[in-house]
Amino acid sequence: MITRFAPSPTGPLHLGHAYSALLARDIAQRAGGRFLLRIEDIDRSRSRPGWEAQIFDDLHWLGLTWPLPVMRQSDRLPFYRAALDRLWERGLLYPCSCRRRDILAAAEAPQEGGTPLTGPDGVIYPGTCRNRPRPAEMPEDALRLNMKKAVDTVDEVSFLEEGSGPSGETGRIVVPAEEMISGIGDIVLARRDMGTSYHLAVTLDDAAQGISLVVRGRDLFEATAIHVLLQRLLGLPTPVYHHHRLIRDETGKRLAKRDDARAIARYRAEGATPEDIRTMVGLA
Ligand code: GLU
Repeated sequence: MITRFAPSPTGPLHLGHAYSALLARDIAQRAGGRFLLRIEDIDRSRSRPGWEAQIFDDLHWLGLTWPLPVMRQSDRLPFYRAALDRLWERGLLYPCSCRRRDILAAAEAPQEGGTPLTGPDGVIYPGTCRNRPRPAEMPEDALRLNMKKAVDTVDEVSFLEEGSGPSGETGRIVVPAEEMISGIGDIVLARRDMGTSYHLAVTLDDAAQGISLVVRGRDLFEATAIHVLLQRLLGLPTPVYHHHRLIRDETGKRLAKRDDARAIARYRAEGATPEDIRTMVGLA
């Protein structure tokens, strides 16, 4: 078994990250498997070497170890590009020049002033650019997945859930094609400023690292359907998934990167031990 922890170096690790990393390591260890680390730094505008150094330091302090070298997404842009080329050649991608406010305006129109439908990537794309003539060569533009075409190409989007989703979903999960089309829609697979996207990068990297069990927060449960679809489209294996509970503050709010008060570094500075952190996240 191979598990992983895949933080983005865009802020301090907090208790929720500690829980995720420790759980992934514990599960691998119990199974006699391996735990890997990956740095998800495709967002160059928000990633900082200083945060990366702090992540290594906090994880070591928690008692985690991982094989070197660590995979870093910013080193893998040519692999992401190659996968986009394959999807482009099969007519599954189209360029999109919509701005955020155009998308919102178009998505709000049929709702008569109501709230537009949202999916794991925010507002469901209303399809403005879908039927524009496609250029012969793949452009350096934002690229969207034609979801209808994509689901028509694959057999079934299904995976095994060993943890549970936000509504207790567990076991064999099958995501109906209709739900992929209306509840997720034509998501961006390459952002103009990144040349890739979280969904594409994470799918290719989990496969490249041979991850057999993806342990991560329940907030990503809906995104898993996208990752499984991409695995089917690109001929990659589907790992087993373990979505875990989220660590919340005393008001019940999910912890975020900006919650410095719950940063591991803060607890360390105040004299907490790694065992204290395990207790705080319910792993003692
Ligand atoms: N890099 C993502 C994050 O920090 C996690 C990705 C994943 O576990 O799939 O939220």
